[in-house]
Amino acid sequence: MSRGHNFSAGPAALPEAVLRRAQAELLEWGASGASVMEVSHRGKEFMAMAEQAEADLRELLAVPANYKVLFLQGGATQQFAQIPMNLARRDQRVDYVVTGDWGEKAVREARSLAQVHVAASSAAVNHTAIPPRADWDLDPNAAYVHYTPNETIRGVEFFDIPDVGDVPLIADMSSTILSRPIDVSRFGLIYAGAQKNIGPSGIVVVIVREDLLARCPADMPKIFNFAEHAAQNSLLNTPNTFGWYLAGLIFQWLKAEGGLAVMEQRNRRKAETLYRYIDESGFYANPVDPAARSWMNVPFTLARAELDAAFLQESKEAGLLALKGHKLVGGMRASLYNAVTQDSVDALVAFMRDFARRNG
Ligand SMILES: *Cc1c(COP(=O)(O)O)cnc(C)c1O
Repeated sequence: MSRGHNFSAGPAALPEAVLRRAQAELLEWGASGASVMEVSHRGKEFMAMAEQAEADLRELLAVPANYKVLFLQGGATQQFAQIPMNLARRDQRVDYVVTGDWGEKAVREARSLAQVHVAASSAAVNHTAIPPRADWDLDPNAAYVHYTPNETIRGVEFFDIPDVGDVPLIADMSSTILSRPIDVSRFGLIYAGAQKNIGPSGIVVVIVREDLLARCPADMPKIFNFAEHAAQNSLLNTPNTFGWYLAGLIFQWLKAEGGLAVMEQRNRRKAETLYRYIDESGFYANPVDPAARSWMNVPFTLARAELDAAFLQESKEAGLLALKGHKLVGGMRASLYNAVTQDSVDALVAFMRDFARRNG
């Protein structure tokens, strides 16, 4: 058996060392005499693991003490609804800055729950750039400002945190969290589906400033209420125990690798390697404003779309997996999350060079 170079956009590559450890302790987890999937989520062992995972994530991201960290279910998509349900009243304005397809979806889900205002959008340029900050129409009385720091489908990333004054800033960090250090204190709430940089699918991490929990309406279903989940340490009901455990192993792996400053160096280099080759190739192209090119998701097209099928077939045969672009965009996409190594990127560029030479 040989594992391929995995460029999947999500569920995405996991570090091989983590998978091997999970394999080694799959049948007997610690001293529990059972697998991690077979023990109570309210037992001592599971609770200790859950606490350690949270502590490690807090350390990695330097999460300030006045933030709660929640491990929930329903994915980032559930957060598109859960956030307005908790943090805005129906008659309140909420501002959305839209730089891609996930931001569009967040807007659609929020529409029935609050007064959604699209404060800025890059739709007019096909979501290939970030609208200039001076053009954002923000309301200082909005309940929050929502944006997507990395748009996974078209590969548009913010490299600074927008200044939105005193209005809580909410970020869908699903495809960029843990790729480099961030200043959590600038945010009211951060959320991220796990299956890109945190672990397997089935968990969404929510990091929320404590004072915002006072907004959660008392009359909403408990299962959607952030304050309830915070009060019960995300154990309101049975969590995704295996996903939580694996996320914990990823956090330990990240710490052992040197933390997010090291990830930043590696991720910058991986992205530079690929964009530099695309730009100089004269055969491949990436349409995104160079100032906003994502480190995590690199969409690209071939000189002639008729070659797409051959590119996908041959790249797969060469052990380069999951390069097909999102159906909304076409072409190719290489996702370069933390678990994707420089070796994998070098192998991709070598293949692309050879393919261009043969077909250019
Ligand atoms: C993958 C992704 C989502 C969707 O996550 P689910 O867990 O499938 O709901 C939302 N936002 C962004 C930015 C993503 O990359």
